[in-house]
Amino acid sequence: MKKIPTNVPEVLDVLGIQIASEGNQEITAHCPFHEDHHPSFSINKDTGLWICFQCGERGNLEHLLQKIKRGSSSRLLQSVRRQSVGRGLRRTESAQSGSGVVRRDRLDPVPEIDPLLVYAQYESFDLPPPWACENRQLESGAVERFGIRWNKGWVIPIWTPEPAGSPRDLWGWQFKRLDFVRNEPVGVKKSRTLFGLREFTGSTAILVESPLDVVRMASVGVTGALASFGAMVSNTQLQILTERAERIVVALDNDQEGKKQARKITRILNRVLPTEIFTYYSSVKDPGEMDDEELIEEFSFCSKAR
Ligand SMILES: [Zn+2]
Repeated sequence: MKKIPTNVPEVLDVLGIQIASEGNQEITAHCPFHEDHHPSFSINKDTGLWICFQCGERGNLEHLLQKIKRGSSSRLLQSVRRQSVGRGLRRTESAQSGSGVVRRDRLDPVPEIDPLLVYAQYESFDLPPPWACENRQLESGAVERFGIRWNKGWVIPIWTPEPAGSPRDLWGWQFKRLDFVRNEPVGVKKSRTLFGLREFTGSTAILVESPLDVVRMASVGVTGALASFGAMVSNTQLQILTERAERIVVALDNDQEGKKQARKITRILNRVLPTEIFTYYSSVKDPGEMDDEELIEEFSFCSKAR
């Protein structure tokens, strides 16, 4: 089968989309649909499928033209069509309809998010800088093992609960800075998995809210922590816990909401597995605020011998 003749870099250039980096398969660029300070827009050079990980816009090349059309002259658009993508797109459409009739204005439904684009974007992020790890007292080996990356903020991978060792295992990531948290791509289902499952091998699971607390605990040799990405623990997450662990220690945040949720899910989990609520003896908010000695001591039931 012939490849559809598209020239993605040229299309982006004519549309005024600023390319940030170009790999073998993907181009990363600044998103034309929102104020994009870091390049969140990713497009596959072969398929023309694209997605913005921040605002959630996505589609194929024709969608891209259509969406940009609203803000630009139709003459520019016509010339882009003719020059670069017109032939390929028309051929695709008529081949799909089977009628041989060219209907240029009917759009295909927006395609599913391309998992390979998601993985390529993740791979383009740097490892966290040493100063950021030191600030949070995270050990670099643990940071790497858990797949944490950096994009002017923490990039925390969200993997499927049943990884098969392929790039498709990655659903997206949680982007975290001091003042906000955002899940990318928009709509990624973090409540259908737990952070730390890939690295979890023990029999006792310590349930915490924040993924970086899992990494913090692993940094001092406390293994077995899993994070729910927040105080709200979903039924799917409870289900996964009961399947993977033999005993559960609930160490959600030491605040009102965390305590309330901890009581609720402990009641539920106890019907299936021995489950207890972790008691914070100091006034810390979560395990991430404990110092090394405190972590090792309090969670000694889950520590590697040091
Ligand atoms: Zn965007």
